Amino acid sequence: MPTVRPPLVDRFGRRHNYLRISVTDRCNFRCAYCMPHEDMEWTARSEILSYEEIERLARLFAEMGVDKVRLTGGEPTTRKELVDLAAKLRRIEGVGPLLLTTNGDAMGSMAGPLREAGITGVNLSLDTLDPGRFFDITHRNRLDRVLVGIEASLAAGFDSVKINVVVMAGVNDDELCDFIDRFWDCPVEVRYIEFMPFLSNGWQEGKLLPYAEIRKRIEAKHRLTPIATDKSAVAKEFAVEGARVRVGFITSMTDDFCGGCNRIRLTADGRLKVCLFAKTGPSLRDAMRAGATDDDLAETIRHALDGKWAGHPPMNQLIQTNDRPMISIGG
Ligand code: SF4
Repeated sequence: MPTVRPPLVDRFGRRHNYLRISVTDRCNFRCAYCMPHEDMEWTARSEILSYEEIERLARLFAEMGVDKVRLTGGEPTTRKELVDLAAKLRRIEGVGPLLLTTNGDAMGSMAGPLREAGITGVNLSLDTLDPGRFFDITHRNRLDRVLVGIEASLAAGFDSVKINVVVMAGVNDDELCDFIDRFWDCPVEVRYIEFMPFLSNGWQEGKLLPYAEIRKRIEAKHRLTPIATDKSAVAKEFAVEGARVRVGFITSMTDDFCGGCNRIRLTADGRLKVCLFAKTGPSLRDAMRAGATDDDLAETIRHALDGKWAGHPPMNQLIQTNDRPMISIGG
């Protein structure tokens, strides 16, 4: 019988049932909006959580009511035996949706095994359909592999397949409707993400295309109908008239959704992050390696969550509040 602990509820009554676990800070792409443009220092392997440590923490979070888990990175598929980790987490009682965020590069061969191991949904990053622009953004010639990865993910039978598009003004904002056209007959959700500031990612307000403008441009060509979502949903979702594809908008800069936040993060080196934009919190890794009991760890997690703010500060202050590049958080 699993241990049952009180749920993770913060000072604002938000119940945290969604854990995002970064399994590595390494990646085989070099996306300009995610990774520092120079001097990226990878975390030493010995400082990265082992799969046993990740499993222990995921089990503990499940005892505290976490029922949704996402694996992120860096690029999670660059870490060996990721399929084994997925299988371990799949066996944890109480965990429902077990999700993955990936750049898609390896999904051509890994979609099937990950689905079999228990991954239920996958988000694939794709910011352009133009091979030259793909190289400019990721510094890799891998667009074809990512498109194959999306096809393989659709064929693998995941409950959900979503395509994450970081919209950057003057970079890919002329392709907004191209994604809808490209995936018109596919059971996917194309999610347009407002460009967010992280350490050393070259963010400027001028590069942010606000949700209202993104939606206006799409609605100039397509009729969108809102789809009801639960209050902790990250994306505003819409059906596209006549199409199988759906669209979503992630609007954390111009219309945040912090009021329904249910997310807590674990970085690859075992630090707690109660908000995407907050300073990185206590090290559960060090506590575990120093012999902390599950009760000790649970106390540390609750204490950190007690300090969570009601919502992130205005976008121009986020660089000051955040202490990590996106690559070391995992989104
Ligand atoms: S910005 Fe922070 S508080 Fe707001 S929704 Fe994201 S993680 Fe939650």
